[in-house]
Amino acid sequence: VPALKAPDATTGVVCGYCSTGCGLTVHLREGEAVNLSPSADYPVNLGMACPKGWEALTVLEADDRATTPLLRGDDGIRRPVDWHTAMETFAARFKSIQAEHGNESVAYLSTGQIATEEMALLGAVAKFGMGIKHGDGNTRQCMATAVVAYKQAFGFDAPPYTYQDFEESDCIVLVGSNLCIAHPIMWERVMKNRNAPEIVVVDPRRTETAVSATLHLQARPKTDLVLFYGLANLMIERGWVDRSFVEAHTSGFDDYARFVRRFGLLSVAYETGLEAQQIEHLAELIHRKKRVSFWWTMGVNQSHEGVRTAQAIINLALLTGNIGRPGTGANSITGQCNAMGSRLFSNTTNLLGGHDFADPLHRSKVAGVLEIPEDRIPTQAGWTYDRIVDGIREGKIRGLWVIATNPAHSWIHQQDFRQLLGTLDFLVVQDMYSSTETALAADLLLPAAGWGEKEGTFINSERRVGLIKKVRRAPGQALSDFHIFKLAAHYYGCGEMFKRWESPESIFQILKALSANQPCDFTGIRDYRSLDEARGIQWPYPEGAADLSSQRRLFADGRFYHADGRARFVFENPRPMGESPDDEYPFLLLTGRGSASQWHTQTRTAKSGVLRKLYPAELHAEIHPADARWLGIGPGQAMIVESRRGRVHAKAFVTPTVGQGQVFLPMHDPVTNTLTYPDFDPNSRQPAYKGCAVRIRSEGPG
Ligand code: SF4
Repeated sequence: VPALKAPDATTGVVCGYCSTGCGLTVHLREGEAVNLSPSADYPVNLGMACPKGWEALTVLEADDRATTPLLRGDDGIRRPVDWHTAMETFAARFKSIQAEHGNESVAYLSTGQIATEEMALLGAVAKFGMGIKHGDGNTRQCMATAVVAYKQAFGFDAPPYTYQDFEESDCIVLVGSNLCIAHPIMWERVMKNRNAPEIVVVDPRRTETAVSATLHLQARPKTDLVLFYGLANLMIERGWVDRSFVEAHTSGFDDYARFVRRFGLLSVAYETGLEAQQIEHLAELIHRKKRVSFWWTMGVNQSHEGVRTAQAIINLALLTGNIGRPGTGANSITGQCNAMGSRLFSNTTNLLGGHDFADPLHRSKVAGVLEIPEDRIPTQAGWTYDRIVDGIREGKIRGLWVIATNPAHSWIHQQDFRQLLGTLDFLVVQDMYSSTETALAADLLLPAAGWGEKEGTFINSERRVGLIKKVRRAPGQALSDFHIFKLAAHYYGCGEMFKRWESPESIFQILKALSANQPCDFTGIRDYRSLDEARGIQWPYPEGAADLSSQRRLFADGRFYHADGRARFVFENPRPMGESPDDEYPFLLLTGRGSASQWHTQTRTAKSGVLRKLYPAELHAEIHPADARWLGIGPGQAMIVESRRGRVHAKAFVTPTVGQGQVFLPMHDPVTNTLTYPDFDPNSRQPAYKGCAVRIRSEGPG
């Protein structure tokens, strides 16, 4: 173990893993990071960090860091090249594909892991400079549902809460959220609540969070929409509606009340598998408690009717007036460290800053602020992720640029995606690591600096803009994503258009100007230094905003972002899952986070010995004891989980955490998505990772 060097200075940054956005104090020696600790004075984490945060520096040292551009030759072998050759080849290959097959024949897939400034630069260079029509982020896989739900209900994609609400609620309803391990520091904020809150978990699994709840409603998978419609009906029937709030601040309530009448208590109990008394008990809690907050995450977002489910949760908050007050809200928790930056500035389905591609006034404003010709701005959003994948299948997309994401592991029905990668004319992957499943398939690999090796801002789940800083040198020739996007613009011949975008901070100033008079207005943040001093600032923070330390909760005045200021009740009849269990494949597969120590496709977390020790090396499948008995499978025994698309080998974890007829696999394992079924929420196009049909058999003694 190398001796730790004594630090001679410290500096604060935000963590680069999850959307909690904890503050970390990096210990420096001669300007280079030697250690870190959680920041006691950062308002998000108050001196706490999860294992991933503690290990954030370790994973930068991995052996498979990409250190030089690699280009595949005609013999199929990849060799190191210099940046000039790499970027010249990139531009030449993409331009030739575009010349032959049209601008729409190249696309990009990006991430929620790079800085907001980098996302905006990528979106601007690709769409306004390179003429690329279609680009989307891996944020489509985690939060697209919440975006659409909020836009339709509130008029803007605006999670309304602050983390303080965890501490001020007297009833916390968590839906499809395993907060304990997925957002452990948010869970610590729940534990700081001194109101002895009711903690209600709605989840088909008895998760770590469910075990700690005061009430766990273990509804059948994918019946939560029916449950929330049933709850709404029950509350309306019993007169448990905040009439004055509904009348003053919402529209569509009467239609909603009529719609939910068909969701009677007994039929909802039958469909969800819950006792009628359990549903009544939850309705009573929501009615009786003064500060009810509703929180959801991937169990809702990653489902075949995620948007309507999220809106059914929003509807409950609206009809009970649980919004805009401390300890309340209809609150989506985001996944990646900068998914929120991506939601506003990635320039994919939104035009930069939450503007609309289809709105001529918005296009004109954006063109004016950026000082670019208006006709460079597309008049409609590009394809969503799944449509880009279909575009590859149809031969319409022939060149692909993948940035800081690993879809060959994470995309639903993974082997289909891997096969499609092989059909591309040219695949460019820009990543910190050279050995991800996607990076290994690249014709051109561009080595990128990671968190801690560059500067910029992230926006966390509570809309707090926080700073990341360069605290160590990137290895070899790796460059920040900002630099790589600038090179792409230069070699494509559109560098002049982005002359003003000369540093991450100058981009921050441009984005600030774009945010003016938008709900996300942060024109009051002077610069990086003021952001640093303030320990992050939540939007909105318009010019002249008074109090940096104020709790920034939205809708305190009951005014929403639709033109009439009213929130909408949005609803629709439930529909069946894309693939349900049947005689041949009788089990339902659930996937999700397996541990607080692991992150997504383990690209980074697998590089830390400490984090690896906190998570089993072998794939384990959770299976109910009754099912295990029926199948003759004992604890730890090898078993095969098989869907119509593939099969995986796993050790049996025999446990009642899952219901009978269900099996759970963590998403971190490279093979889990060989099983998943490519079904999508029709409103958000988010993949439905939480449910497909599988069968299970024993593989012999363990
Ligand atoms: Fe980082 Fe999230 Fe862990 Fe906080 S909870 S230390 S932001 S990974």
